[in-house]
Amino acid sequence: MLKTLLIITLLPACAAAQDRVSVGVYHGRPVTRLTLSPHASGQVTAERALLKGKVTLTAAGGLVRCKDRKALDGRKTVKLSAYGGGVWLSGPGLPRRLHKGDITITARGGRLRVTAMVPIEIYLQGVVSYEAKDLSRPEAFKAQAVAARTYALTKVQSHVREGFNICDTPHCQFYAGFAEVNPVAARAVMQTAGEMITYKGKPISAFYHSACGGFTEGVSAVWPYGDLPYLKSVQDGPAARPYCSPSTGFRWKKKITFADLERALRRDRWLKDGEKISGVSVRGHGKSGRPLKLAVSAGGRVVEVPTSDFYHAVGRTLGWTAMPGNLFELYSGTDHIIMEGKGAGHGVGMCQWGAEGMAAKGFKYWEILEHYYTGTRIEKIKKDNK
Ligand SMILES: [Zn+2]
Ligand SMILES: [Zn+2]
Repeated sequence: MLKTLLIITLLPACAAAQDRVSVGVYHGRPVTRLTLSPHASGQVTAERALLKGKVTLTAAGGLVRCKDRKALDGRKTVKLSAYGGGVWLSGPGLPRRLHKGDITITARGGRLRVTAMVPIEIYLQGVVSYEAKDLSRPEAFKAQAVAARTYALTKVQSHVREGFNICDTPHCQFYAGFAEVNPVAARAVMQTAGEMITYKGKPISAFYHSACGGFTEGVSAVWPYGDLPYLKSVQDGPAARPYCSPSTGFRWKKKITFADLERALRRDRWLKDGEKISGVSVRGHGKSGRPLKLAVSAGGRVVEVPTSDFYHAVGRTLGWTAMPGNLFELYSGTDHIIMEGKGAGHGVGMCQWGAEGMAAKGFKYWEILEHYYTGTRIEKIKKDNK
């Protein structure tokens, strides 16, 4: 079963990216008021003075306002250093989150922008705890840790114009801080510290998803990118019982009315106002059987919507459970569609539930990664000895 050995070589320092990343916290949400509250075991300073109780910050134009502590009032930027247990952040319409690291709060246009500079290995503990929350096997966690590290390091330029490296939403990777760090996830990150997935010596785009439904899909069939040799369609275990088949909701059936679909497609500008859907059909299939496009007949014309755009439009308007994944068969009725599918998510790269299934069968994390990312290897980032 253990057909390959883990190959650890050293990547040159230029590929090592960085030890710390700055994360845009509450990215995409308007932050008008922010309460900082040190964790019971937090060692938190604000502008170099120890923070013991709660303080609330607001923004007035380009200035931070703070009634609780004069030293923080009237600045453009407030700098926090949050170590030990960290600091709780909360505010109206914001989920309460525990963060650590060097946190910068800047006022701009009457809103507060929050960034947290954290060691990447610590950031990954938060990411993996969330991303692998349904998993239980240590080898699956380790595969997730290496995939998440690789993915993060290829995304560090994503938000440089906005003044940080990575956002805390699924656009980069979902990161909710440290309140629910799972010890298995933390251990998996530590045990794989610095390891990345490479293809011909370069870090890969390590996409991953919840459950592939039996076959992953080649990247070009899902998104309008070129083909990548390491993101091919792979069969995920025996046809009768794919590795990811124990996932919750592996088989699903969903009905969407034309009226709801019109709303979703109108919002994403696939349909014009007043256009009524009369039918939907599939145009072409990827290697895994995923529909490539959906032909929507509406208002006397046929609009071809790539499946990933259709999935996005439905998820954004009707909720992400309205259409769990993109591997499905479609039946079009007179006023609704029915989709019968398998798996969840986009189907590209590592199947998280499949990683769990492979770990249950005794595969090691590098074998799991090699299965989903064709022709790749694991390499360790060389540390600069500064
Ligand atoms: Zn992002
Ligand atoms: Zn799978």
